[in-house]
Amino acid sequence: MSARRTLIAGNWKMNGLSADAKALATGLAEKMKAAGDVNFEMLVCPPAIQIPVVATAIAGSGIQLGGQDNHANASGAHTGDTSVAMLKDAGCGYAIVGHSERRTDHGETDAVVKDKAQAAHGAGLVAVICIGETEAERDAGKTLDVNGSQIAGSVPDGSTSANTVIAYEPVWAIGTGRTPTNDEVQEVHAFIRGELAKKVGDAEAAKTRILYGGSMNPGNSKDLLALADVDGGLIGGASLKVDDFWTVAQNA
Ligand code: PEP
Repeated sequence: MSARRTLIAGNWKMNGLSADAKALATGLAEKMKAAGDVNFEMLVCPPAIQIPVVATAIAGSGIQLGGQDNHANASGAHTGDTSVAMLKDAGCGYAIVGHSERRTDHGETDAVVKDKAQAAHGAGLVAVICIGETEAERDAGKTLDVNGSQIAGSVPDGSTSANTVIAYEPVWAIGTGRTPTNDEVQEVHAFIRGELAKKVGDAEAAKTRILYGGSMNPGNSKDLLALADVDGGLIGGASLKVDDFWTVAQNA
């Protein structure tokens, strides 16, 4: 059995108002408390403005809290951004960096993602570093090249299995209802672990959690989470409903 503890992470993106966030977080906290011992860790990443209401709702449940992004700088003239210290202060233990929507909407390069991950590490946050190929890159047979170069460019020095989680999210699978085959997912995850080993060494790479993300749902999660190198999921749409997200977690 793998020493890597399964991480079921919800990326709520820019959805819902505070009442929705409170209801979702409260519903999950109730499930966690009723379940007692579970064989997974649960993480929720609400919109930044809703982190406080979620922190209150999940207190004492064991559910962990994360930001969806952080700035690379500690403070200063960065209108609209959130610092790692602010996330930490609000109760976060994690920060997603380099999500493909940030890479696309905000032009974030591997170098930017790397700086953000480094800032997260500096504040004692676990960086969930997202990578993944576009459909055109997959069609061109470049899937492994793209993911290898994103690992090389986005994972900072000083990364360890304790401060870093990798999320493999094929861009074309996000929010589309489409996924690679299970064999394809396993192939990419095993490849990513090998590329990560070049940066952090074999022992740390073997302990680092690599999540799959992209249309994971109650129906496909059992098979995906059973793959040898899949150590959890980063889940968007299906993380917005208590029952769906809970079912995914139960499939861990
Ligand atoms: C995501 O954006 O991180 C994601 C995986 O979204 P979805 O589950 O909706 O495809």
